[in-house]
Amino acid sequence: MLVDKHGREHSYLRISLTEKCNLRCTYCMPEEGVILKKNNSYMTVDEVIHIAEFFVARGVNKIRLTGGEPLVFKGFEDVLKAIGKMDVDLSLTTNGLLLNKFWESILKAGVNSINISLDTLNEEKFKRITRRGGLDVVLNSIDQALKYGLKVKVNVVVIKGVNDDEILDFVKMAYSKPISIRFIEFMPFDGNKWQWEKVVSAKEILGKIATEYDVKDIVALDRDRNYISRDYSYWGMKGSFGVISTMTDSFCGGCNRIRLTADGHIKNCLFTGDETDLLTPFRRGEDILPLVEYSLMNKHLKNGGIDFQDLSTMHDHRSMISIGG
Ligand code: SF4
Repeated sequence: MLVDKHGREHSYLRISLTEKCNLRCTYCMPEEGVILKKNNSYMTVDEVIHIAEFFVARGVNKIRLTGGEPLVFKGFEDVLKAIGKMDVDLSLTTNGLLLNKFWESILKAGVNSINISLDTLNEEKFKRITRRGGLDVVLNSIDQALKYGLKVKVNVVVIKGVNDDEILDFVKMAYSKPISIRFIEFMPFDGNKWQWEKVVSAKEILGKIATEYDVKDIVALDRDRNYISRDYSYWGMKGSFGVISTMTDSFCGGCNRIRLTADGHIKNCLFTGDETDLLTPFRRGEDILPLVEYSLMNKHLKNGGIDFQDLSTMHDHRSMISIGG
C-alpha cells in the first residue's frame, strides 16, 4: 500500500489527461488562458496506462479521469478501455458537453459513476461563468447519464454574488432527480482571482437550504472515512445534496488521494506546490516507486501545509485546469 507519514493509505488516483478544455470557467481557467507545454511534455496514452498500472499494483483501487476536460484528450477512449480492464472503480469528471460522443465507450469500460460540473441553471449566467455556451447540452447529459443508470454527481462551485442565489434551485433538482448535488466552497488556484469575500461557506449553504427545508427532516447520510462531501437528503427527495468544505472545515484526516497531472507529475495534495516529476525518470526506465514514497513521506497532514488565512504560504501553485480538481 502507498502510505503517507500520517499513516493514510492512498488508494485513489486522480489522473488529469489534459490541460485543454472546451470551456473557460472563471474559477478554473485564468482569463489569459494557460500556456500549454510542448507536446512531448505530456503523458502519452501508453504512459498514462503504464503509470496507472504501477499505482494499481500498489493498492490503488479507484481511478478518476479528469482534465482540463478529459473528453477532449485525443486518446481518451484508449485510456478508458485500458483502465476499464484494471481492477479499479473507474469514474470521470467532465463538463458534460461531449458525452454524447462517448457513451458507448464509457459504458463498455464499466464506468458507473460520473461527476458533471454545472454551476448555474441560468443560460446567461452559464455563458458568463464558462465564457462559452451549452447549458442545455449539459442538462441533457445529466438526464442521459441517469437513463444509463450511472451514479450522477453534479459539482457546483458556489461563488458569492455569482450563483449563491441558485442553491435552492439545485436542491430542488435533487428533489426530482436521483442525483447528488455537491456544493463546493470556492478554492484558491492560480489565476482565479480568489478572495475570502467570495467564499460561501458550507454553514451558509446549509443555512440557506434550511430556510426552505425543515431542518428536522434533513437527514445526514452515512459517509466513509475517505469522504470528501458531507451529504444530506430530505424526506421524499430522490437525490441528495452535499457540501465540500475545503476552506472552512477540511476533511484531510481521511485523505486517500494522490494526483497525477497531465505532464506526469504527482501532487500528494490538491494544494501542495511540491510536485514530483514521475514522467522524466519513467521515460528513462527508472523505478518511480522511491519518488512516490518520497512524495507521500512529505505530505502535509492538512491542505498541503497551506494556511488559507495567509496565502503567502502558497507557492508554485497551478491553476485548477492543470490539476483537474
Ligand atoms: S486538501 Fe489535500 S490533504 Fe486535504 S483532502 Fe484535499 S488533497 Fe487531501
